[in-house]
Amino acid sequence: MHAYCCRFCGASLHVTMVDLGMSPLANAYLTAEQLHQMEPFYPLHVYVCEHCWLAQLETFTAPESIFSDYAYFSSYSDSWLQHAKAYVEMAVERFNLSATSHVVEIASNDGYLLQYFVARGIPVLGIEPAANVAAAAQQRGIQTLVRFFGEDLATQCVAHGTPADLVVGNNVLAHVPQLNDFVSGLKIVLKPHGVITMEFPHLLRLMAEKQCDTIYHEHFSYFSLRTVCAVFVAHGFTFFDVEELPPHGGSLRIYARHSEDVSHPMTPRVAALLGREEAAGLQCVDTYLAFAEEVKATKRRCLAFFLQAKQQGKSLAGYGAPAKGNTLLNYLGVGTDFLDYTVDRSPHKQGHFLPGTHIPILHPDAITTTKPDYLVILPWNIQAEIRQQMAHIREWGGRFVTLIPDVVVSV
Ligand SMILES: [Zn+2]
Repeated sequence: MHAYCCRFCGASLHVTMVDLGMSPLANAYLTAEQLHQMEPFYPLHVYVCEHCWLAQLETFTAPESIFSDYAYFSSYSDSWLQHAKAYVEMAVERFNLSATSHVVEIASNDGYLLQYFVARGIPVLGIEPAANVAAAAQQRGIQTLVRFFGEDLATQCVAHGTPADLVVGNNVLAHVPQLNDFVSGLKIVLKPHGVITMEFPHLLRLMAEKQCDTIYHEHFSYFSLRTVCAVFVAHGFTFFDVEELPPHGGSLRIYARHSEDVSHPMTPRVAALLGREEAAGLQCVDTYLAFAEEVKATKRRCLAFFLQAKQQGKSLAGYGAPAKGNTLLNYLGVGTDFLDYTVDRSPHKQGHFLPGTHIPILHPDAITTTKPDYLVILPWNIQAEIRQQMAHIREWGGRFVTLIPDVVVSV
């Protein structure tokens, strides 16, 4: 038996939710030179805690090695920028933010979101551990600390006179190895009547829509509302609202306040969603065991598509080089024997190779030059945007393919 314990409650873990085998770090894009070197692979095995129902991966590598030179630049996705702008408009209105307020964003990336607060004259502080990404934010005038967030940093922020009226954390909670230290830091940095909003992928949607490709080593935790609520309650917070969001294939946005602060009224949405999670069986071991079987069936369907396409002499290219694509392609064992190449708009990824599968990442113009029969969209969560950008593949009879939750071929 392994001695592996729950990141939140400390109970030992025994129940497998899904085992995707061995996989490289999903954001470890390779240079041509690195193709000739050894490449580290780690188990991609999700357990669920039978006590608090936190689904989780073991932490194999120090976060410093995963996040210090992160290749993901938020500003390269149009839909994500629109989402950030709409959020800022909502938050300024709902929480009466002004030039005397202070907004802190954890994992602020290249300043993609804070720029909209700055444009409205609201003081901000970004916290971003990836130095290369933080430098991009600083270049556009957004004050950014190159640090990991936790109790230590929160204490320093307060000592320097910068507690927060609003703490924003989008797609960071799942990436936190020391979950209790992180939430405890939130308690320190938030003003008495301040608000926290956090967005993270919703476990209910991950399971319902078979999004097994959203599992990768950088995602340490997979949250239901019930479990994330338990974590925050344990650290003195109350959730007063929750929203279900379409971006990133089904995320939650939680709204938290200090438990002793009654200035933000409760909405009925928290209780309603907790009820739906219970009805879906998220507090039942069998639900997780059934998911493990569904993922194997997904693999068989995907491989059947790739085999048939190649037997028919078709050419295939990918669109996008997201972490989720790397999880899926490594789990399937699909390399350049099936996908000739993939393309990505980010110049930081072009000229590199996907980890594990070693598929080259090219500029999107390659699609027009080689005219593939099938364009496999790896970031299915922004497929509408990609179908628009790549509408011209229809000129040579090209078809779009998405693999999750099911294989869909369309014009
Ligand atoms: Zn637990």
